[in-house]
Amino acid sequence: MITEFTGHPLIDVGLAALTVMSGRALPDDLGPDDCETVADWLFSRLYTTYDATSELYTQGPFKSYLIWLFPNAVWVNNLSKDAQRTSASLRAYAQETLYAFAMEADPEAIACNFCGRPSVRRVSRSVVPLLSGKYPNFNPAGEVGVPACGLCLLAVHALPLGGVATEGRRLMAMHSSNSELLMQMTRWAVDHNRAAMHQARLADWPQLPYPRTRLVARQHRSRQHYSQPPGPDPHRSGPSLVCFALRASSDRTGEPHRCSPIRHHSRLVYPPLASV
Ligand SMILES: [Zn+2]
Repeated sequence: MITEFTGHPLIDVGLAALTVMSGRALPDDLGPDDCETVADWLFSRLYTTYDATSELYTQGPFKSYLIWLFPNAVWVNNLSKDAQRTSASLRAYAQETLYAFAMEADPEAIACNFCGRPSVRRVSRSVVPLLSGKYPNFNPAGEVGVPACGLCLLAVHALPLGGVATEGRRLMAMHSSNSELLMQMTRWAVDHNRAAMHQARLADWPQLPYPRTRLVARQHRSRQHYSQPPGPDPHRSGPSLVCFALRASSDRTGEPHRCSPIRHHSRLVYPPLASV
């Protein structure tokens, strides 16, 4: 269904989380059934709560976390006091975002800004973090938002599971140009967040301290496990954080190390604080 990551860190981390949650090895293994299963899970477990008695949906218990990423989205915004209308709004919004992958895209539609597939709608930062708001700035056509396809919309909604909440109300999304490394780091994040959801129901979504130290630790641990491609010094890495990890390891083992040129790179991505 998907052949490769897009190169956009937030979409890719979400896509990796979607893959992990489906029990697949790589995004290329995902099928429509996997997407539907994960969309159902995200809708009923993360973004909403279902009341079996009234058969209505309400906003989920994790609004204080989700508002960092999706400010002003229907998931977190104040909705009507009418329970029927609230439930209808949540279901309609889910169709536009979580289930948009199932919509038949117009092949003539403008390309998705992230992956190049035909888009299904234009989005702003209430849907994809770090975009601008609903202002027609810097767009020659005067249109609001950037075009996105249904699959990227589902992927970005898996981002809360693929990133890690850190202190200061920030999300640490660990991205790498190496697919195997990206999948390993995201697998750890998904496991962490599944456990965090239980804690968050009792108190609040846990915010881990020292995100940069944790990134170094995850990089170092993943390096010890992922299969090494042939060729000299396959672990040369760009950022100073990764270089630090390699240097610390090499100094201990006596192996030579080099930190440039960049072959694989990883980076921290911080969506901005929500204005509440
Ligand atoms: Zn796309």
